[in-house]
Amino acid sequence: MIVAMQETATDEQIQRVIDHLVRMGFEVHRSTGARQTVLGAVGARVDFDVRDIEVLPGVQEAHRISAPYKLAGRSFRPEGTIVKFLNGLTIGGTEVVVIAGPCSVESRQQLFTIAEHVAAAGARVLRGGAFKPRTSPYSFQGLGEEGLKLLREAADKFRMLVISEVMEISQIALMMPYVDSLQVGARNMQNFNLLRELGKVRKPVLLKRGIAATIEELLLSAEYIMAGGNYELILCERGIRTFETYTRNTLDISAIPIVKKLSHLPMTADPSHGTGRRDKVSPMGRAALAAGADALMVEVHHCPEQALSDGAQSLYPEQFRQLMTELRMIAPAVGRKIA
Ligand code: PEP
Ligand code: MN
Repeated sequence: MIVAMQETATDEQIQRVIDHLVRMGFEVHRSTGARQTVLGAVGARVDFDVRDIEVLPGVQEAHRISAPYKLAGRSFRPEGTIVKFLNGLTIGGTEVVVIAGPCSVESRQQLFTIAEHVAAAGARVLRGGAFKPRTSPYSFQGLGEEGLKLLREAADKFRMLVISEVMEISQIALMMPYVDSLQVGARNMQNFNLLRELGKVRKPVLLKRGIAATIEELLLSAEYIMAGGNYELILCERGIRTFETYTRNTLDISAIPIVKKLSHLPMTADPSHGTGRRDKVSPMGRAALAAGADALMVEVHHCPEQALSDGAQSLYPEQFRQLMTELRMIAPAVGRKIA
């Protein structure tokens, strides 16, 4: 931390700040200039609050220079994390993985139809919600375990892996036999009890950025899961809430290179929830790949007009096939390959 004292700060005030920093565990280096004193504080634990110093008498400003997360930070694993699945698929290496499927699992016929289409087009992971976080309690809430069984069966039939959202701790054990990866939705990014439990799980977790979460908050949520011992973690930008109303959310493409610089964890993007409109999904999917995404998550439905959730942002199978063709052309331009 760097603490700049006010020009008018007294020696007594400066000493009080130094004493406070030492009590917090810092080693303090004092630099006394002609007009102003600057304190360089190094070596404390990561969980301090810079405001504790900012409010002390005589302090002009205080700035944190170290990241508040350790395990999720790039320096923990400078070479980057590659998450490996049992079938050999990896996320975070050269190959970019496409995850696709309906928003919700609605029926056997629906899921198998969509799974066949997305697998044929090149998706490697089948997505689908069995537990749905809906804004209204009257909206379709998902098929629960029945939906998980269908996901497993469809994914096995069409040689894909399964990812599905976990909304609460009690669902973890139920989901484990059916899924290859657990998704934490935007609304649960700061459900810290859930994150802690997922730290004990030995399956990859895909953690989505909250609707109004900063990148630092996303990385601190990742830290919760890693602190519990689960390092198989994938992050996902899924759009944040801004003042723009044309799109459902604003897909923050810049979060992709930012997270890849700050963290060693694979970073992915979901252009479906990121835009909320079918005609904007492919352009933003292409942009996310170009910006360095390690995987893309895309909602697809064979009959989106009748979808029980997120029909307006679901691609038709033909549009998804077209997107895959485009992604295969873009990938080599940025040194990647579609898995
Ligand atoms: C989803 O993937 O279907 C979903 C609900 O996503 P999010 O948590 O990003 O809204
Ligand atoms: Mn959805």
